[in-house]
Amino acid sequence: MERKDLANLIFPDAKDYTYYEEKYVARSLPEGAVVTRFAPSPTGFVHIGGIYQSLIARLMTKDQGVFFVRIEDTDQKREVEGGTKQIIDALYDFDLAPNEYVDENDVDHGEYGPYKQSLRKEIYHSYAKKLLEEGNAYPCFCSPEDLDAIRNDQEKAKERTGYYGKWTKCRNMPVDMAIERIKNGDPYIVRFKSPGNPDKKIKHKDVIKGAVDFPENDQDIVIIKSDGLPTYHFAHAVDDHLMQTNLVIRGDEWLASVPLHLQLFYVLGFKSPKYAHIAPMMKVDGEGKRKLSKRKDPESAVGYYKEEGIPKQSVLEYLMNIANSNFEIWRKQNQDKSMYEFDFDIKKMGVSGALFDMVKMLDVSKNVISRYTAEEVYDASLTWAKEYDEELAAMLENKEYALKVLSIERGNAKPRKDIAKWSDVKNTICYMYPDKFDKNGEFEYQKVTDKDEIDNIVKTYFEKYYNPADDKQAWFDKMKDLAEEMGYCREVKEYKANPDAYKGHVGDISTVIRVKLTGRCNTPDLYEIMQVLGLDEIKNRI
Ligand code: GLU
Repeated sequence: MERKDLANLIFPDAKDYTYYEEKYVARSLPEGAVVTRFAPSPTGFVHIGGIYQSLIARLMTKDQGVFFVRIEDTDQKREVEGGTKQIIDALYDFDLAPNEYVDENDVDHGEYGPYKQSLRKEIYHSYAKKLLEEGNAYPCFCSPEDLDAIRNDQEKAKERTGYYGKWTKCRNMPVDMAIERIKNGDPYIVRFKSPGNPDKKIKHKDVIKGAVDFPENDQDIVIIKSDGLPTYHFAHAVDDHLMQTNLVIRGDEWLASVPLHLQLFYVLGFKSPKYAHIAPMMKVDGEGKRKLSKRKDPESAVGYYKEEGIPKQSVLEYLMNIANSNFEIWRKQNQDKSMYEFDFDIKKMGVSGALFDMVKMLDVSKNVISRYTAEEVYDASLTWAKEYDEELAAMLENKEYALKVLSIERGNAKPRKDIAKWSDVKNTICYMYPDKFDKNGEFEYQKVTDKDEIDNIVKTYFEKYYNPADDKQAWFDKMKDLAEEMGYCREVKEYKANPDAYKGHVGDISTVIRVKLTGRCNTPDLYEIMQVLGLDEIKNRI
């Protein structure tokens, strides 16, 4: 009996692998175009790290390359109903639509599918059959107990654990015996026969991590499991070869698998892709740092951003800051450009994990939203409010008024930066709504706190100075006149030079008016606020 018989016995129906080599023709792409992928498991949880990875993939492929999604569902215990849809929807939500993918109905969009591993079983079998025929794979009959016993012996002998070299039981089993055991119905899996020698080194040049040396792999890893599905490692080699990936961008937890992967590509006769291993996003925890965790950090889930109303542009721009730290300066100098015009350099990505800092993200978001028009803020907040905040949605019903409110300090050279997420909008505009404003509320006045003085300032202002027809300059001059009349300094600077000569300065006076009309010490431009409130409402509030 020969290896060919063994291969036929294990995979009787598998096509010759050359069928697939011919089926998936070379992609016709311009020289240097990147083909890369996002390869998540459909576990029902889309991690923000997946968006990060896809953003990098999109930046690397831009218009001329290919970014595809492959659903890695070979661990069917972890699979969740609807997992594929969630992933594809999330990518669309973040404007990171892939060029090729599989949809929730298992329909492929692209010529290099199936893009879901569980639908590729026979493809893996063809390549496993090839390895068996060549003597580069073998059936292994070791039971879980056998493997435990091997591990115990290795631990006792203080040697590396795993299925390799002298510890393997089935690696050198004669073909006849293997065939007999299979015919007997003995359970088995298929292992790779590693040609590696760990005393030798391989040199890997990672696009992000740079040069890394590893000992050669000598583990005879499982390639086909007892359920007939491949392991991640084997599927990675077969899929990325057939789908013609030339750059693998993935989490750096896979860096240690590079020697195995390069060996698999080599033994299978495939050209290996380049690898770019991305450092994970980290979080401060007590004294130390740890990976952003699905269990502990709500912001690790993409759904969090939608619920909070943090716009996708903000999330993406923040991720750009993490990816290339010079993006921040570029953004300051190029306020109006699309972030895709930034000259992204994958080699400049950090080797170790960057901090994922929500405070910074919200800061970035304030800047992003400050560049929105009132109409854009209106549309986005209304869409968000309809799903998450009925009260805000009702406030926005009167579009004309809402646009006036949202236009305050917007569209000018120094736009307001007090909105980081749509869930902030209600609080930043509610005092502009008569039915949300309690004129008898307990307000905190900053400097001037004496009730009679406050009443006096307000009364004098509205009796003698305020004229709704004034332009901003006239309005401000009158505020100064009022200050002077009340014993406050017209100019802040002058006041600071000689504080004992006055009760305060013009800012203290305008604060009194501001608090009286809005209940707050800090608001955007008071002149604009008063214009929007209108005389009737102002009268009502004083
Ligand atoms: N399914 C693997 C993961 O989710 C993919 C790793 C890779 O990109 O190769 O981590």
